[in-house]
Amino acid sequence: MRKILLSLIIIVSFYSCNNEDESNTRNSVLEEKIEKVLSNMTLEEKVGQMTQITLDALVDSNVTIDNNKDVQLNNDKVQLALRKFKVGSVLNTALNTPLTTQQWTNLTKKLNSIAVDETGIPIIYGIDAIHGVTYTQKSTFFPQQIGIGASFNKNIAKVAGEITAYETRASNIPWDFSPVLGIGIDPRWPRFWETFGEDPYLCSQLGEKMILGYQGDLKSSEMEVSKVIACAKHFYAYSYPKSGKDRTTAWIPENYLKEYFLPPFKQAIESGVQTLMINSGEINGTPVHMNKNILTDLLKNELQFDGFAVTDWADIKYLKYRYHVAETEKEAVKLAVNAGIDMSMTPLTLDFATYLVELVNDGEVSNDRIDDAVRRILRVKFRAGLFNENNFNGEKKYDLFGSLEFKKEALEAASESITLLENKNNILPLKKGSKLLVVGPNANSMRTLNGGWSYSWQGEKSSLYTKEHKTIFEAIKDINGNNNTKLVQGVKYDEFEFFNSQKEDEIVDIEEVINASKDVDAIILVIGENSYTETPGDIFDLNLSKNQILLSQKVMKTGKPVIVVLNEGRPRIISDFIDDADAVIQTYLPGNYGGIALANVLFGKTVPSGKLPYTYPKYANDLVPYFHKYSDDAEVSVEPEFKRFNPQYEFGTGLSYTKFEYSNLLVKKGKELEISVDISNTGKYDAKESVLLFISDDYATLSPDVKRLRGFEKISLKVNETKKVVFKINSKDVSFVNAENKWIFEEGTFTINIDKLKERVKITSSGEWK
Ligand code: BGC
Repeated sequence: MRKILLSLIIIVSFYSCNNEDESNTRNSVLEEKIEKVLSNMTLEEKVGQMTQITLDALVDSNVTIDNNKDVQLNNDKVQLALRKFKVGSVLNTALNTPLTTQQWTNLTKKLNSIAVDETGIPIIYGIDAIHGVTYTQKSTFFPQQIGIGASFNKNIAKVAGEITAYETRASNIPWDFSPVLGIGIDPRWPRFWETFGEDPYLCSQLGEKMILGYQGDLKSSEMEVSKVIACAKHFYAYSYPKSGKDRTTAWIPENYLKEYFLPPFKQAIESGVQTLMINSGEINGTPVHMNKNILTDLLKNELQFDGFAVTDWADIKYLKYRYHVAETEKEAVKLAVNAGIDMSMTPLTLDFATYLVELVNDGEVSNDRIDDAVRRILRVKFRAGLFNENNFNGEKKYDLFGSLEFKKEALEAASESITLLENKNNILPLKKGSKLLVVGPNANSMRTLNGGWSYSWQGEKSSLYTKEHKTIFEAIKDINGNNNTKLVQGVKYDEFEFFNSQKEDEIVDIEEVINASKDVDAIILVIGENSYTETPGDIFDLNLSKNQILLSQKVMKTGKPVIVVLNEGRPRIISDFIDDADAVIQTYLPGNYGGIALANVLFGKTVPSGKLPYTYPKYANDLVPYFHKYSDDAEVSVEPEFKRFNPQYEFGTGLSYTKFEYSNLLVKKGKELEISVDISNTGKYDAKESVLLFISDDYATLSPDVKRLRGFEKISLKVNETKKVVFKINSKDVSFVNAENKWIFEEGTFTINIDKLKERVKITSSGEWK
């Protein structure tokens, strides 16, 4: 036995040595290739590699896009960009229109062949494929990231990444501007739904898995032909502007930046993410695009990121126009490149390249800085396999694009995201054939199911490309029967206009809703928001729109059982009427299969298993995340009963149709803390459950958070089945960033909490659990 063990150990270490050698050799071969290319490049070629333009800069603005024809490029514009300026990267679709895979393939092949002919270096084409391939018709659309967060399922994040990568490559595109790794702690912010939710650990874990799904294991080989380069964005702390409006000032202390905002990016870099997109905002007065401390000292030196950093849309120019920190566009280029920007998404003009060449010639930007940026870009291009022309000549078949197999995964993801928040008297699941009235502006819309970045930037074109998909009303009708299911919306959105916070929707006829409700068994009220992203999605009031509040209050007064279905990118305030609802379901932005997923939940074909990945506020002035401080909560000295932290629904809320019982919370102490708990399904349905581990640092030298998520695991349990879930925690997992901006853990007691079970443990100064 000992002999076998010994030989095993030897084999393992032999292999690991071998792998390390192999990877060192591979890296030095790669670096040699990079140096060879770099040494033959002119300054103009190098600057060209650092320039990224959008496809609209290469077509005429009056061009029409016809599915059966190639996208018509403007030859002069193409020659100027790719030959004269030797641009190394292109992004986006043209005219905000989704293309077919064939159109994408022909287009990217053509651009690439010109670029390679001119410089020998392929372009890297980038696209926002954030829940499926946004701009490719018939791509498989998953729930938006906030829904993946609600699934608390790492495998779902990975599979969503894998399928999106495959379909992006089926469009002959190797680079995806995803995932978003900001933490969604301010629901006013219009990109809240692009995050995995409010918790840094949840965002880190799901982000890592999604990146793995996109890129595969890049450490062991050149990227596979079904994978894409991921782009973690927006580095960093973009998600928490003081005003709640997109791209406005953030005031965040250094220690909080490090403790809450950095970890998802740090983990992404450790998992091998190849590119980062920079935060368009300003933090503590410094726009991030000119912040050398962040872009060079932190990102490249401390975190050892060896890929490249791309700007966000026109953000170098905005150093002049939005932030007033550069008097001229040229000075803005100098500030950004010297701070550590490697590639500029210019995206419509080529002045960046002209200015940068001048700046180098004037000695304002060093050749070393340019070489560093270009090395990074070439490194990613090699790792992506772009120099291997066979990978991108459109010959490869991607037969699984839009397949049934992929659709099933997207449906599964949507199903696992749906979150049951309230179910009085077990009104759900409904009986098939009940007389139902479906009401509300989100009841019959594909646009609202998908949200922004769906077929177009703001998602306003969804209904044109989703004819084969089911809205919530259509999916309910399919199960419940035509004759038993009526639709009267009461309030409607504009189908094709951008979101407008001044006029989100309009009343159609609320009286008709009341009349139609007379002979029904229940009302399904589907409310929320129309699609949006970025600045057009800014709001001045987090309350649900006045029209929808009015509609909801009237519906509640009918005396019929009301099931409220929320379909929204951020938690709009519903406290004016929600206590009167019999059931409440959050669907987030579940994608093209969200209607079916919801209908399956309503009728019990699927048992809900999502949990809220954020705190749902009860009042618009009360936006505090679950990991707040003790002082945010009870005001002990005044009145013990008065809870200052009083959300509508807490982080992690999510009911099931079955019953789970938690027992045997056990801790094994030592160098590592092993926490185990048994979960039993004592109800009537086979179901899934996300087990969430929270730990509180009872006392610390900086006021500790009341609790923090330190582990989660999603499990399936059949009726009467019991499973044990084990978490391992060490001192690093319970550390915080102190006032000197250092990660530390402190001796003392911690309270472990899973479901309603609690256990207290102690850690010594040497990190031993007692
Ligand atoms: C967004 C990015 C996006 C980029 C390219 C920007 O406006 O902030 O998230 O990747 O556009 O489309």
